[in-house]
Amino acid sequence: MIRSQNGMFGEFGGRFVPEILLPALLELEEMFGRLREDADFWQEYVELTQQFSGRPTPLTPCHRLSEHLGGASIWLKREDLNHSGAHKVNNVLGQGLLVKRLGKKRVIAETGAGQHGLATAIMAARLGLDATIYMGADDIERQYSNVFWMRQLGATVVPVTTGARTLKEAMDEALRDWAASCETTHYVLGTACGPAPFPELVTYFQSVIGIELKDQIQTAIGRMPDAITACVGGGSNAMGVFTPFLEQSEVKLIGVEAGGRSRDDGDHSIRLQPDTAETGIAQGFKTLFLQNQDGQLGHTHSIAAGLDYVGVSPIIAHLHQSGRLTADSASDEQVLDAFKLLMQYEGIIPALESSHALAGGFKAAAEMSADQHLVINLSGRGDKDIFNVARAFPQPEWTAFLQREIDRQNNEPADQSSIAAAEEARHA
Ligand SMILES: *Cc1c(COP(=O)(O)O)cnc(C)c1O
Repeated sequence: MIRSQNGMFGEFGGRFVPEILLPALLELEEMFGRLREDADFWQEYVELTQQFSGRPTPLTPCHRLSEHLGGASIWLKREDLNHSGAHKVNNVLGQGLLVKRLGKKRVIAETGAGQHGLATAIMAARLGLDATIYMGADDIERQYSNVFWMRQLGATVVPVTTGARTLKEAMDEALRDWAASCETTHYVLGTACGPAPFPELVTYFQSVIGIELKDQIQTAIGRMPDAITACVGGGSNAMGVFTPFLEQSEVKLIGVEAGGRSRDDGDHSIRLQPDTAETGIAQGFKTLFLQNQDGQLGHTHSIAAGLDYVGVSPIIAHLHQSGRLTADSASDEQVLDAFKLLMQYEGIIPALESSHALAGGFKAAAEMSADQHLVINLSGRGDKDIFNVARAFPQPEWTAFLQREIDRQNNEPADQSSIAAAEEARHA
């Protein structure tokens, strides 16, 4: 299991936060330090994921696809089959149990595309906690269905209307809340980033993925795989699947970032290549960030909202620097090709995030021999991506369907008001 040195992983990590947040982070670190030595706590966590999220998730061989691509046998670790459709719920359930041990009753989170907010709202309902989710007002408009479900689940969703009205502003607002409320409130961080102990804590819960995989692949082929690929946004699904294999140097670990439209600034989210990102301190920790010439955080793009992040896990940055992790990237176009291949050869609709791991995995497998095995961590399912995918693969029937929906709404005057206006009325 990965261990930091005082919150650092090589030169990355740390805890760069306002004084007022220190006690809450130290309290969390102390509790986490204790609980991770406690086998009963891990058992309680595993049981919750089994009873509530369908764990263990299967390991699925891809016979038709492997034959088509020629090369290594391809396997999928099926995180898409979790409750709510992705690996995010693992981390959130773990933190929920931890909150109960801390004796706190309220959780807050920030969310961009809404997936982490939804997972947090689900956890809070299950464990009987109050949840407040901060979300940029523009993101709310883009991802309204997630907001709708969060509210039905009983969470309070607060639109953030400052700045660019997206994830960064939501994060600032969540931190402001936490600074005022940390005695009673836990901040549920969604990925293996942020100030210590979050990168280690999130990795700890997500490592359930790799622990299961190790058993499953041993049973299936009698040995360890030759390579594993995972997509890298903040880095939590990648760390989850990689961590139990770190000591096995024969297993190649490949992290796949969002290559986006091009290598131009603002067109991608590649933090692990020397020409695109630089070491910096932001959002409470030190890591590789996309930055412009003045050291301001840069803009990112990916066809997959979950990979669209300026920083990367300090653990991933360190593993890459030390040579244990190989970094690759997949362009939007390669991602759509991989998406289509998996659907048509295996009958699985992957998330666009996970399709980066597929693209990197297909490329690696084609260069391997037929007696080798490659596992792709399928972090989530693709239902949520229907609009993006429909745009990429246009069909006249789909355009007609959308037009009919728009016409229907226009015939009902009550629905004319925009989401923004309705939000304003709600908070007036
Ligand atoms: C959020 C998300 C990711 C990216 O987050 P990581 O912390 O890098 O794992 C990847 N895949 C899916 C399906 C997601 O929802």
